[in-house]
Amino acid sequence: AKHEGRNNFQYYAGQMNASAWRRLKLETELRRALEREEFVLHYQPKADLQSGKVVGMEALLRWQSADRGLVAPGEFISVLEETGMILPVGEWVLRTACKQACLWQAAGFPDIHIAVNLSAMQFRQPDFASLVLGIMRESGLEPALGVIELELTETVLMHNSAGTLDTLRKLHEAGMRLSIDDFGTGYSSLSYLKRFPINSLKIDQSFVQDLPVNPDDEAIVAAIIALGRSLGLGLIAEGVETEEQLARLRRMGCNQMQGYLFSRPVPAAEMTYLLQNGG
Ligand code: C2E
Ligand code: CA
Ligand code: CA
Ligand code: CA
Repeated sequence: AKHEGRNNFQYYAGQMNASAWRRLKLETELRRALEREEFVLHYQPKADLQSGKVVGMEALLRWQSADRGLVAPGEFISVLEETGMILPVGEWVLRTACKQACLWQAAGFPDIHIAVNLSAMQFRQPDFASLVLGIMRESGLEPALGVIELELTETVLMHNSAGTLDTLRKLHEAGMRLSIDDFGTGYSSLSYLKRFPINSLKIDQSFVQDLPVNPDDEAIVAAIIALGRSLGLGLIAEGVETEEQLARLRRMGCNQMQGYLFSRPVPAAEMTYLLQNGG
């Protein structure tokens, strides 16, 4: 039994080392990824629910790794956040989205809108608003034209500090559009909708998924739409995959949709093609 116990211990210790080792390896690779410019942005269109036209898009981070292939953010965003690497990577995302917006404007799409995702940690940097506005102006984009929109989660608003409010006010006063991502999944109270200068709500895909079959989800989506409308906010449904979901959302008065039904996130070149042909 003694012998067995020791083997067990070695077995578990070995497991822990293996997972700690994997994590360390991932962290090291991610540090190199930024230097080697292995991050890329894919773009997913947002469409108007009535006209079906592309009205904007969301930039989504990918890691094009030589060893691992194209890696989705679910595999590495938490490591970037835990290590603080999300700060330089987040800056890179914003710069890249701005550059791409300028390229598309020059290519004859003046009304392009790109939404960029932000982590709570980015908001906690001192003077984050100046950083964002500086990056935009360096790229030649006037913030007030609404070319770049910022998506924040309820976690950002939950850190209900004077700093957060100040940052959001500065961005809003400069004319930037702000939306709340994954709306309805967070823990914060609804009073932040009154306190913070928000333009639109993104209805989380978990509520959209079972829309035609689940009356609870239908009730939640209807409530979010009613709330958004009465506060004068734009409403966009995420993760729309079926015609049934689309029809239901349209009838419920949602404004915009995003999801595989319309298009998956695609590389910039494919988005150019979509803009030329599907806009
Ligand atoms: P999110 O911001 O909620 O983005 C929506 C996610 O849903 C994306 O996953 C998108 O590819 C996926 N999606 C879109 N349509 C559908 C659909 O019809 N069905 C299903 N099942 N999924 C759909 P992705 O690209 O893997 O990104 C995951 C999350 O990673 C994002 O969730 C966001 O929280 C985070 N993220 C992505 N890019 C960035 C970034 O540049 N910065 C930060 N801080 N976070 C990012
Ligand atoms: Ca988002
Ligand atoms: Ca979302
Ligand atoms: Ca999400």
